[in-house]
This record gives sequence, structure tokens and C-alpha cells, in this order.
Amino acid sequence: MKQLLEKILSDCSRYTSEGVVASYIPELAKADPSDLGICIISDGGKTDCAGDYEKRFTMQSVVKPLVLLLALEDRGEDVVERICGVEATGKPFDAFNYSDLALKNEHINPMINAGAIALCTLIKGDSYDERFSRLIELAKRLSGDPSLSVDEAVYLSEKATGNKNRALAYMLKAYGMIDCDIEEVLDMYFKACSISVNCKNLAAIAYVLANHGIAPGSGEQLISAEHAKYVNAIMTICGMYNGSGEFALRVGIPAKSGVGGGIMAAVPSRMGIGIYSPALDKKGNSVAGVKALERLSEEIKLSIF
Ligand code: GLU
Repeated sequence: MKQLLEKILSDCSRYTSEGVVASYIPELAKADPSDLGICIISDGGKTDCAGDYEKRFTMQSVVKPLVLLLALEDRGEDVVERICGVEATGKPFDAFNYSDLALKNEHINPMINAGAIALCTLIKGDSYDERFSRLIELAKRLSGDPSLSVDEAVYLSEKATGNKNRALAYMLKAYGMIDCDIEEVLDMYFKACSISVNCKNLAAIAYVLANHGIAPGSGEQLISAEHAKYVNAIMTICGMYNGSGEFALRVGIPAKSGVGGGIMAAVPSRMGIGIYSPALDKKGNSVAGVKALERLSEEIKLSIF
């Protein structure tokens, strides 16, 4: 497997020059666009890595499946689905052109910013600091890495410039979909996006999602199998921004990408995959990361369709 991964990365590294590193959060612009790394965890914990798999990057939207998971564990599927719909929007992750019709819960989903912000309000905790602590604890538990922490520079950069997310949150409030202090919920959201990880962390989390909630190695049930299934289904429908349909055709596995360059992919009952390459296409997906997943899917027949 390691040899296959090395071959795929060497074939796909040329695609890094076709993408552009995100710069709307100034701190993200510092990433090296030529980075490309991958880690796969399979068979109860077998780990294969290649390339820049140890590089750290921020989760950004890859944290959204975890926000969804914690909201599901705290409130159950009925409440979650009442607050946040499950249909693909076909729009960018930060779109807010809902002005021609009233914004309704079924217009959003857990993988776009508005949906993730709404779901933060469902997570239990006396304060948004406590809610965030519970979220990062979940990330530590699922990744098996107790050292996970927030990249303070990215968090502060995002907090200072995140006015589009402020606009989205105020719109949710204006339409009665959330009822909380906007800066507090956004502070949690920005911190969540700024959790620093590497490819191995993403592969480990994805493995649990792929393995019906069960940890590699210990065999411990970390999350409910039903909730893992819910998250995988949502990732399949809208995890790769408004490129999810094409990704389903070309790769065919539940996955979530983020503007930090990460992709977390769960191959049901088989493996968890973490990829990092920060040069993005126009929709926000890692160009070389998607190409590498496409190759891997072809080589070892990963598509679930
Ligand atoms: N923190 C980013 C934002 O809200 C996440 C976007 C993304 O990765 O899709 O703008």
C-alpha cells in the first residue's frame, strides 16, 4: 500500500500548481502550495502514509462532520434535522443569496457554514467555551491524539476577518433559526475551524466513521453506528462543497474537504483516509488531493456506487 501511495503522490504532485492557496483568511495564505501528503488507516489500525503526511494544517470545514456528530449525540436525529436540513444546496459553502425567499431550516445543511453555525447552538454546554471544549475532546477521542489544539494565529486571523460568517449568523438570527449571542457562537465556530491536525489525525477520525463508530485497535464503540451512518450520508451528499456530485462520480466515497487543504474520507467498512494539499480549485477543494483520491479509488476500487 505504501508503494502505491508514493506512486500516486508522485504522479499527482504536478496538480498542486493548478490550484491556489486560500487567502481570504490571511493566515492560510502562508501555506506551501506544493505540499501533498496522505495517510490511510485500515484493517483495525494498519497505517500507511506518504508525502507531507506529518505537516500540520487547520481543519476548517473538515470539522463540520464533528460538529454534526456532537449535535446528533447531544440532541438526536429528529432535533438536528429540524434545525438543519439534509439536502445539497448546490451553492458555495459561504453563500448567503437567500434574499429572494425566506430562509428556512430545510435550505441549509450541516456541511455549509450556515448549517454548521446553527448546529453549534445545539451542542450542550453552559457556555460556548464549554461547548468548544466538548467538541475538541471529541476530536481528540476519535483521532486518538490527546495533543490536538487550536492554531491561535489562524483562529485570530479568522475572527478578525470573518465578516461573511457574521452576516450569515445574523441572517440565521433574523429568520429565527438561532437565538444566541452571535459573537459567542462564532467564537466557537472559528476555534473549531482552527483545530490543527495532520493527515494521520484525519485518517483516524475517518476510520471511526467508516467502521460504524468503532475505534481501530481497542475495538471500543466511540460513537453510535447510527450517527456514523448519518454523517457519512451527509458527507456523500454535500461534503465536497458544490463539487460533491462530480466527486461522487469520480471518487464515490463519503468525504469532507476544507479550505485549509485537508480532505477526510471514510470508505465504509474499509478504511479512513486523510489527505493534505492546500492548493485549491475554485470551489475550495484541494486539486491534487481530489486527483490522488480519484487515482486511489480507481486502483483499489473504492467507489461505493
Ligand atoms: N473557517 C472557514 C470559513 O468559515 C471554513 C470554510 C471551509 O473550509 O469551507 O470561512
